[in-house]
Amino acid sequence: MKTLVKGGRLVDPVQGIDALRDVLIENGFVTRIGEHLDPDDARIVDAAHAIVAPGFVDMHVHLREPGQTHKETIATGTAAAVAGGFAAVACMPNTEPALDSAAIVSEVVRRADAAGLARVYPVGAITRARAGRELAPYHLLADAGCVAFSDDGSTPRDARVLRHAARYAADLPTVFISHCEDPDLKGDAVMNEGAASVRLGLDGAPGLAEDVIVARDLLIAADAEKAWHIAHVSTATSLDLIRWARSRGVQVTCEVTPHHLVFVDDRFDDYRADSKVNPPLRGSHDRDALRAGVLDGTIDALATDHAPHGLDEKAQLLSVAPVGFSGLEVAVGAYALALPGLPLARFVELLSVNPARILGVPGGTLGVGSPGDVTIFADRPWTVDARLFRSKGRNTPFDGMTLPRRAVATIVEGAVVFEHGRVLPREDVTA
Ligand SMILES: [Zn+2]
Repeated sequence: MKTLVKGGRLVDPVQGIDALRDVLIENGFVTRIGEHLDPDDARIVDAAHAIVAPGFVDMHVHLREPGQTHKETIATGTAAAVAGGFAAVACMPNTEPALDSAAIVSEVVRRADAAGLARVYPVGAITRARAGRELAPYHLLADAGCVAFSDDGSTPRDARVLRHAARYAADLPTVFISHCEDPDLKGDAVMNEGAASVRLGLDGAPGLAEDVIVARDLLIAADAEKAWHIAHVSTATSLDLIRWARSRGVQVTCEVTPHHLVFVDDRFDDYRADSKVNPPLRGSHDRDALRAGVLDGTIDALATDHAPHGLDEKAQLLSVAPVGFSGLEVAVGAYALALPGLPLARFVELLSVNPARILGVPGGTLGVGSPGDVTIFADRPWTVDARLFRSKGRNTPFDGMTLPRRAVATIVEGAVVFEHGRVLPREDVTA
């Protein structure tokens, strides 16, 4: 099978390329890059007036399968991924049951293969059932396909358990990913603690709830000499702590979500749960610090924290509605909205090069011999209509907004899986 991406502006920071180039993919791998390539028997993907990049990797996605398939399935979640320009996603372990055994992880991998869309990299649990007590079997989970470990959705409460886990997994290259929220400091909060929560009479979670766990986990990372990644950073202090840890030689990376880059905590006036998320949307001081952190290089990756729920679930009272919303299909546009001056090479680093490197997975470049995973995107404004999402989760605070950038086509292993607004599962996969 030959696929030719033709006429686009190739932005590949690893190769130092930013120029009009065609990319030829044969049998799943890049075989040639050049001007005006013309093999006679290739499937042509027209990339004229668009940007061609190594496939985007979203390192923080909730696919909800097994156990919560009314919210999302691996098939609908990966359809949302490719429609949003993502060739690969890392899926978090807070499924039911949790991704804490090799058998469950193998089943996720099998169902992802059957869906035939984005690559799916499971993230295994740090503790059994994410209960914060017994360690999960990291070596078996890594053998089954896990590329990282996390108890995402919550944090192990007991620092002794986390330290033990980090030391036990220290010899594995797989990174630990922290969801940083102190459950006691957070309490029953539904939003950020600040002027807005006081005005509305709602329980707020202080930034401190995040900061103390970031500090704790960075100190444990240093103690265990374990590579660590901080998920969905939302405060200025978290970024300062990460800078401090790096200055001390701690191997730490971090990500930020589209919603924390765009919104602040002024979205609860109608007491609706559309914008309820963990960690909560913060004030403008934190939001501006996150934008600066992307520009100055403190933040390594952009990740959606795609967390789909049913509309009926999100329509419940603010106090009981679940946290999170769909992110995959708006992310590329939302990042461009939040970071208008960001150079394209840096945009590609944050969405492809760095997440692939942090997870230790193939991709991040279209150099000859690399996987034929390609994201084609364009600066064409469009208006979000969540009713048209491929995700089962049709809730997003971006609904109705006009975003400046969008994915045009997505190629995985040389197969065109999204083009002209349509999702196209690979035909050569066995269901
Ligand atoms: Zn999380």
